[in-house]
Amino acid sequence: MKPFHSLMALLLAATGASSEWALAKTPDRPAHHDPSGGFLNTYPTPSHGMPQFLKWRWQHWWGINHTEDQVELPPDPPGTTGDVEHPLEPFPLTPVDPACLAANTRHPTYTWIGHSTFLLQVDGVNLLADPYFSDRASPLTFMGPKRVVPPALAMDQLPPIHVVLISHNHYDHMDLAALRALNERAKTNTPGRQPILLVPLGVKAYLRGKGIFNVEEFDWWDSQVAGTEGYRAKGQTLAEKKSGSTIEAVFVPAQHFTARGAGDLNKTLWGGWVVKGKTFRFYYAGDTGYAPIFQDIGQRLGPFDLAAIPIGAYNPRWMMGPVHVNPEDAVKIHQDIRARQSVGVHWGTLSQTDEPLSEPPRRLVQARQTAGLAPDRFLVVRHGATLWSPEGPQGARPPLREGCPR
Ligand code: ZN
Ligand code: ZN
Repeated sequence: MKPFHSLMALLLAATGASSEWALAKTPDRPAHHDPSGGFLNTYPTPSHGMPQFLKWRWQHWWGINHTEDQVELPPDPPGTTGDVEHPLEPFPLTPVDPACLAANTRHPTYTWIGHSTFLLQVDGVNLLADPYFSDRASPLTFMGPKRVVPPALAMDQLPPIHVVLISHNHYDHMDLAALRALNERAKTNTPGRQPILLVPLGVKAYLRGKGIFNVEEFDWWDSQVAGTEGYRAKGQTLAEKKSGSTIEAVFVPAQHFTARGAGDLNKTLWGGWVVKGKTFRFYYAGDTGYAPIFQDIGQRLGPFDLAAIPIGAYNPRWMMGPVHVNPEDAVKIHQDIRARQSVGVHWGTLSQTDEPLSEPPRRLVQARQTAGLAPDRFLVVRHGATLWSPEGPQGARPPLREGCPR
């Protein structure tokens, strides 16, 4: 995107009223609640305001490269170029099997729809994370980062969605058109029952202002039970479930920032999600930089059977490093949180930052080797691929398999 267009997009987005972001003040304020309103990272990050944005676009325009952004990647081994770990653009879609997913209530599955959008099925509950289905991740329909791969699963091919997890309010994670479409779809598919949207603090008021009311908001470490029959109020436990299938969702810290326009920087919270099923645990990191915050998540809520961790949108490091991990950092998160297996998200779908779109998986291969991890410990999959978790004896979880369980 040209710098002029980027600037215009932000200026036009700045028309949103900041009163929408009002946050209730509490006397005993957690450390990540900014006394002047809004939120702070656990470890301070440099500002991501307009001056930094303009500096980045200016340097991008002039092709200024930073040595810390360059990595020596080994040449692709013969016969592998174009496979999932050495991808060539355009990225091919793996056909999804919507009928199989709709029929599956038994096995945990993960289906990558693209970017950080994925369908997760746990204990008969269908969750959709960070639904982004629009053409552009922008307040405008004619400019801003444009997707290069269509969603692997169209909205009308999804099974009924019970729970939507939103990690933060950036346009590539919170797509209002997609949220409205999910609600519309529920009117015919599951009359009287909309999905419940689980969102970070501050986002509920924003969504209500946009006419979206089926929302529950979370601070870091808040947890709630949600499922096919809606959700349960804070403080109640899984044992109190009356009917239907449920999971427990926990909102966890991340190192990032939020904004949808000018004047709302960090006025709403950001984070990751943990989904606890009866015998399957899942972690999604949201958008995050690396900081010593992940061991805590692993100790409190791990180990995880599967983790979805971002591996793309990391260059230039001076700008992106504090808020977007690269594959090497992603491997550290995988280890910190005690994930048995991880899968890379936030790559290969939208051209947002300076690294080539096909670089993250190649770099992940190298980062995994350096860390001594077997290839199946941190996977990349094609857009549209489904992973499912077979059940071993006594609820044990052998490695995930690719494909829809039958
Ligand atoms: Zn973000
Ligand atoms: Zn993002």
